Amino acid sequence: MLIFRQLFDPQSSTYTYLLADGKTLDAVIIDPVWEQVPRDGALVRELGLKLLYTLETHVHADHVTGATLLKQQFGSKIALSAKSGAEGADVYLEDCERVAFGRRWLEVRATPGHTSGCLTFVLDDETRAFTGDCLLIRGTGRTDFQQGDPRALYRSVHARIFALPETCLLYPAHDYRGLAATSVAEEKRFNPRLGGQLAEDDFVGYMRHLGLPHPKQIDVAVPANLKCGKPEGKAPAETPDWAPLMLTFAGIWEISPQWLEENARAVEIVDVREPHEFTGPLGHIPGARLIPLGVLADRAKELAAEKPIVTVCRAGGRSAQATVILKKAGFGRVANLAGGMLRWRTQRFAVDDASE
Ligand code: FE
Repeated sequence: MLIFRQLFDPQSSTYTYLLADGKTLDAVIIDPVWEQVPRDGALVRELGLKLLYTLETHVHADHVTGATLLKQQFGSKIALSAKSGAEGADVYLEDCERVAFGRRWLEVRATPGHTSGCLTFVLDDETRAFTGDCLLIRGTGRTDFQQGDPRALYRSVHARIFALPETCLLYPAHDYRGLAATSVAEEKRFNPRLGGQLAEDDFVGYMRHLGLPHPKQIDVAVPANLKCGKPEGKAPAETPDWAPLMLTFAGIWEISPQWLEENARAVEIVDVREPHEFTGPLGHIPGARLIPLGVLADRAKELAAEKPIVTVCRAGGRSAQATVILKKAGFGRVANLAGGMLRWRTQRFAVDDASE
């Protein structure tokens, strides 16, 4: 079984792809985005994957890669084209090479034209290919900067991508209209730049007259990506530092029962269950303050902002919603107690008012 996820960065309209062998859980991620590393890392952890490689389809001009940050967290190897000109990678990929993850692999195909180091990654059974900015859905990458070459791009698409089975699904690095995937057959017929009867010279003429603006991020992104996204004083989306919080893929910051037990006095514990649950069989954490979820938005002003807030409920669902309500009410340091009272009780930590 293949585990496959298509992830999206709305800022740069970039697609990131996570692939894993469902049995061994060995995984690779294609084109991770710096700002999305907390989200993507949470998914890797929740699915229990072993991230072996970050793969770049090319040196991007529109976003900084998350490759180095992921390597710091998971020990994944950074891999990109030997022709990319980037420093600091662990693996420099060549045409026709294989990147294995568990019993599955991706074949590396050199598809220059957008940049000279562009790669397309083809899944072992040729059912999917990841085309980067070489072939987009009803479009192509631009060829007017970063060693762009329209003739090379036309040949790459025809010789290396259109040579795949007609049913092979194609996944690009970007889409600006919300389209997710296409197929070889579709692009052969309908790509307005190089599909149908269009010849190489038609494509070159088309690309010379695109008149695109200078990419917004290029002056920041290209130098950073030539170093595989080495952080330079910049951290991805504020990582809270008041406690060892874990971000879930759902976007909720959580804290473990162990940490709360040891640091209960340093935080305000807000229990968002109903009053009868607060004094019911599970009891409540000593010192917890009861504010049921339904009235939390109205009563948030009763809470002081000096201490961070940890929200609690029965199993951790309502209290996750409570963190969202408190953030909206202006509280910056808020976390959800992972697993709620159920997990707290299984770990045998102290409770008040429990009736069993
Ligand atoms: Fe690009």
